[in-house]
Amino acid sequence: MSLPVLKNVVKNAVKTSYDCARCPAYCCTYARIAIEPRDLVRLGKHFGISPEAVRRRYTEDGEPGERILRHQKDKLFGSACVFLDLETRRCTVYNHRPGVCKSYPDSARCGYYEMLRFERKWQDDPELVVRARVL
Ligand code: SF4
Ligand code: SF4
Repeated sequence: MSLPVLKNVVKNAVKTSYDCARCPAYCCTYARIAIEPRDLVRLGKHFGISPEAVRRRYTEDGEPGERILRHQKDKLFGSACVFLDLETRRCTVYNHRPGVCKSYPDSARCGYYEMLRFERKWQDDPELVVRARVL
């Protein structure tokens, strides 16, 4: 048994206290969603284009040495990842999404979702969207 498989089993066994299906995809609006070369390859296979074409079309420079996903305008949070469906609030490349998206939040808890759940309960509005920006 290899270590990565064991790690995955342990990670999947962690019970999470957030529900992405009930969230407006706040984490998909982070300004810097870093892309690795293997993400370009995976997305390229999905779109039927080269990794370089994915890089040019869907990414841009971030911090020095970093490549990040481009954004599109979003009425809820100002801007969001280019791959987010702005109506359904779901990822349009879910099965091919970058590694950083797969691992986030890498914890049993999500800070945004806890705030969202608290405010929905407090304001008695199950559809409430908490608009927050990290500056
Ligand atoms: S902000 Fe948290 S609950 Fe919302 S989609 Fe991201 S990980 Fe899921
Ligand atoms: S690739 Fe998908 S999961 Fe990742 S930030 Fe964009 S919309 Fe969200």
